[in-house]
Formats: sequence, C-alpha cells, structure tokens
Amino acid sequence: MTHIITSLCVRDRGCIDVCPVECMIPGNPVNEWPWIYIDPDTCIDCGACVPECPFAAIFPEDEVPAAYTAKGGEYISRVDLTGHFEGTNHHGQPIVLDTCKQLEAGEVVDMTPDIQPNYDFFKTGPGYSSKDLDTGL
Ligand code: SF4
Ligand code: SF4
Repeated sequence: MTHIITSLCVRDRGCIDVCPVECMIPGNPVNEWPWIYIDPDTCIDCGACVPECPFAAIFPEDEVPAAYTAKGGEYISRVDLTGHFEGTNHHGQPIVLDTCKQLEAGEVVDMTPDIQPNYDFFKTGPGYSSKDLDTGL
C-alpha cells in the first residue's frame, strides 16, 4: 500500500521534510500537477507525513474518503478548477495556485479520484524529474 495526497493539498510543503525515504515530490508544471505527489513504489507507509499537513490532505490509500464533508473555507486544488488561492508555505514562501475551489461548510466531495494522479505522476508524468523544474512554489 501507499499513502496518497489528495486535492486538499495546497503545496504547504511541510510534509516533504519529514519523509524518511524522500518520496514526496512537488508537481511541475504547477497548473498540470498542482500537488505534492507520493511515489507509491517507494512510500513505506510510515505515516510520518500525515500529522505534518496543516490541511489534512494525506491519507493511507484505503482511507481516502469517498464522501469528504467540508468544514467550510478549505480549498481543493484540481487541474480542471480555476479558482485562485494565495498563502504562505511551511518555509515562509508564497503559494499561488489557480487550480482551486473554496468549499462551503457541509459540501461533500469524493476524494477517491485523487488516488490515480499519484500513480500517474510517476508512471506517465514527470515523476522525480519534476524536482529539476522546482521553483519552491
Ligand atoms: S503538507 Fe499537506 S498541503 Fe502541504 S504539501 Fe504536504 S500534503 Fe500538500
Ligand atoms: S507515509 Fe512515510 S514514506 Fe510514505 S510518503 Fe509519508 S512520510 Fe513518506
């Protein structure tokens, strides 16, 4: 099994620093790969990244919620969305995303479609070479 980063990820980057096998890779280009992605072949399911995420975006693969109920105010980020998000990441650097939508309290979102992009990123997407394009966003 592996852990999965879902569309609740807004690239805070706090998780990357704690992964003991360095398998969490920032997606690039950002508009095509807006999250950080976990390499499912390398993740050892240690769970260290989960409490580091201020947006609670990381789940064991078999616990990714099919019916996530929004608290209200949180963002999801997916390539087919066009909303704007600005923030500051774990290292104090600006985050700017244009692939977002802010959720309303009680809105229910199926997060299971977010599983496959974690696999695709490493199979057909940029994978580890994405680090070469990384600007810190
Ligand atoms: S800490 Fe959470 S929001 Fe930040 S990059 Fe990791 S998964 Fe994404
Ligand atoms: S569960 Fe452990 S090995 Fe897997 S991505 Fe998180 S920190 Fe890395």
